[in-house]
Amino acid sequence: MKPTSSRAARRRAQKSNTSGTITVADIAARVAKAKVKGAGKAQEDRAKRILTSFLQTAESYGMPANEVVAEMASGKAAWRLGHAVRAEILKSPPEAVTKAACAQGCAFCCILSGGEGGVITGFEATQLHKAVSPLAGQPDGRDWHAAACPALDPETRSCRAYDARPMICRSFLSTDAEACERNAAGGTEKGAGLLGNHLDYLLIHALCRQALKGITQVHSYNMAATAASAVAGDDTATGLAKARHKPSALETACRDAVRAAQA
Ligand code: SF4
Ligand code: SF4
Repeated sequence: MKPTSSRAARRRAQKSNTSGTITVADIAARVAKAKVKGAGKAQEDRAKRILTSFLQTAESYGMPANEVVAEMASGKAAWRLGHAVRAEILKSPPEAVTKAACAQGCAFCCILSGGEGGVITGFEATQLHKAVSPLAGQPDGRDWHAAACPALDPETRSCRAYDARPMICRSFLSTDAEACERNAAGGTEKGAGLLGNHLDYLLIHALCRQALKGITQVHSYNMAATAASAVAGDDTATGLAKARHKPSALETACRDAVRAAQA
């Protein structure tokens, strides 16, 4: 059967990558053409500008293309860039931050009842799994609430993987802890949400997936399943294999974040 043009393109891209001829400029050209389903043009353009600036910096420092590809595929690029945007936001913190009710021991946001369990990148899943693995066999968050993140301490309700907590945990906050409690029980009250950096981070990871099509796969992972695998004693490779999402999870997370930003 004659290959379709897209199959032929994928093969050409794979060949180019295998022979080591892909350049950072080639990747930037792919990013320029990439599209994220459900994102508005302004949101997509912003994420592209951030990712393109990362690629320009990588190129100017002579970072090899295979390392750039690896950072994009693992989600390390989205993580770094999401952090940089978060740091900018926190220089002039919005009211959502200055009036946040968040405090140690308040953990209703660690109840992960959605089917996707919290969307995280491979880089974050690896960090989280390594941080939680030493706690294997101990009581975990699910001893407090059946849908709580296993990285949670069930007694103190504090995160036991604080330094390795994913972007979603660093971006979520609320001005009303009681509303969080009601939302954790299925409510839909306002007052809680994700800082703007989270949308950039998700869209950048989705752009990386689109730009690297035919070169390598870009996955997302279920945060709760990653932590559950670590407390069950799995090694990291097994844990990530168990926690890997279907591609639609990242698309859904992007779409939901876009809608939340527009609300
Ligand atoms: S987001 Fe809500 S549940 Fe989480 S720490 Fe803040 S107030 Fe508490
Ligand atoms: S990683 Fe930590 S902060 Fe994030 S949901 Fe789990 S317990 Fe909560």
